[in-house]
Amino acid sequence: MDTIAKRLEAIRSELLPGVSLVAVSKTKPVEMIQEAYEAGQRVFGENRAQEMAAKFSALPTDIEWHMIGHLQTNKVKYIAPFVSLIHSVDSESLLEAIQKEAQKNNRVISCLIQVYIATEESKHGFLPEQVLPLLEAPSRNRFPNVAIQGLMGMASFTEDDQLIRREFSGLSKLYREVKASSGLPLPILSMGMSGDYRIAMEEGSNMVRIGSSIFGSRS
Ligand SMILES: *Cc1c(COP(=O)(O)O)cnc(C)c1O
Repeated sequence: MDTIAKRLEAIRSELLPGVSLVAVSKTKPVEMIQEAYEAGQRVFGENRAQEMAAKFSALPTDIEWHMIGHLQTNKVKYIAPFVSLIHSVDSESLLEAIQKEAQKNNRVISCLIQVYIATEESKHGFLPEQVLPLLEAPSRNRFPNVAIQGLMGMASFTEDDQLIRREFSGLSKLYREVKASSGLPLPILSMGMSGDYRIAMEEGSNMVRIGSSIFGSRS
């Protein structure tokens, strides 16, 4: 089996220009994250608040921690002091909770709006038509300690590459539209995981979230 450094290098060599890599370390021990860190990786993704907080305390302080999984409102407090980017904002009540905790910590927390693009009920997110209203001034003014940086989406879990491509292409189109209509910079479009990041990049993703292709499969 290849080392983490080798796998990271292989994935980095495939990234299209302008695409950044979030190494998804959920369920993996700090030793493996340290190994990726020593290979130059600085951005890691986790899906559980307490697990992320424990890893934050155990690892170098120049790591950027990204929350990528569904986040319960009562868990925001564990990550609010240090989280770099929350990809998985999927409800207004979560936005409210992030606003509250960001204010308590006297900081602005960067977030992505998660959009529901899959054909599966199990996935979370706002409907495409709900996104623009969230970005407009009346709504934004309610969340002064939240900086929305773009959109995130997960394609269906399927072998059907055409379906995956259509879902990513739809999100990419929405991203361009809301960027133009809102007038906000919205620099980030986060889409693509181990199984579908090549398609995601072809459809315009500029941030991929890759776990198992770097750290091996999760049990
Ligand atoms: C687990 C997870 C990933 C990474 O999945 P892999 O298939 O292991 O690359 C990416 N995004 C989200 C939201 C995840 O929960």
